[in-house]
Amino acid sequence: MGKKRWILHVDMDAFYASIEQRDHPEYRDKPLMIGAAPNQRGIISTCSYEARKFGVHSAMPSRTAGRLCPGGIFIPPDIAKYSQESRQIMKVLQSFTPDVEQVSVDEAFLDVTHVEQLWGNPVQLAKRIKTQIRKERGLNASIGVAPNKFLAKLASDLEKPDGLTLITEENKREILATLPISKIWGVGKVTRKLLEDQGFHTMGDVQKTSLRALRSVLGNFAEHIHQLANGEDERNVEMECEAKSISSEHTFDIDTNNASLLLRTIMAHAENIARQLRHERLSTRTIVLKLRYSDFTTITRRKTLPQPTQDEIQIYDQAVALFTAEKTGQSRIRLIGLGTTNFVNAQFQRDFFDTVSEKRQRLAVAVDQLRAQLGDKAIERRID
Ligand SMILES: [Mg+2]
Repeated sequence: MGKKRWILHVDMDAFYASIEQRDHPEYRDKPLMIGAAPNQRGIISTCSYEARKFGVHSAMPSRTAGRLCPGGIFIPPDIAKYSQESRQIMKVLQSFTPDVEQVSVDEAFLDVTHVEQLWGNPVQLAKRIKTQIRKERGLNASIGVAPNKFLAKLASDLEKPDGLTLITEENKREILATLPISKIWGVGKVTRKLLEDQGFHTMGDVQKTSLRALRSVLGNFAEHIHQLANGEDERNVEMECEAKSISSEHTFDIDTNNASLLLRTIMAHAENIARQLRHERLSTRTIVLKLRYSDFTTITRRKTLPQPTQDEIQIYDQAVALFTAEKTGQSRIRLIGLGTTNFVNAQFQRDFFDTVSEKRQRLAVAVDQLRAQLGDKAIERRID
């Protein structure tokens, strides 16, 4: 058992819509939809609480929203403004503790274990933070207070909007027992169906089951689910990830057009990047290929993936697709590099089973560990 921690999860209420209502008094108290117009293809990214009363929710097609709420106001998003606002809010959070992990434009975890002397107990601190955000930014936040990240995130969602919810070691299992399994991190459609087919609907159902019985349903994934359903989560609040991009490049001793050598180099880069992503517990959405020809002409090509990944094979496949599209032919290449940007926190990936096969992910982690022990040359992946 580690020492007792206190984690806050801060989540802004209806973030985009609240910013627009703050800045435009004429939108206040009205159903407001941020996203595509109701006569267009596209979706609503956020809507005000007034719109939610009509059954509108984020990610809903705008046409549906228009039907449900014909008198609603529809405006396009102003992403630059929202990211500027996001930076201001993170500054407010950082004025209370440096241990802030931003997880999306309007959400962050704070480890407040060590600042009690400064700000009072975690609930008092959460109140202060809410007040400060309202005072400085004119917006409401909901905050969950709990001994770990998983519980804090659940807590912030329980009494939205303008909520403040405490979950403790003492009441955690009871609170979790009534919540659906879909609220467990990593449980997406596939895992949910596996569980529901076996009669698991709530976290309480999982709590009542032995780890061994759960293993027969979920294999190695069982332990993770069992721990979370019981309110156990050891993950630390990771301070703002320094990495804005992770890249790997290589200049050849002699300029080359040897396809097999170029592909092997791309594979080495993909492995290198995937390893760093796993180390940082990040997944990437965007793959960037960089090529420098013998005449020093340099190009970069990028591709955004439908799903974030930390898997070398997926990264390699995308990079090769970019490379092939360049039709480099007989041109000699001096440098080849791969980069990735546009990260998401891997722990927020919706479903472990949906993305990469679990086996491959475990293999990759094992290879990383061996490499760390034996050095890079110990294991080489064959690509032909
Ligand atoms: Mg939010």
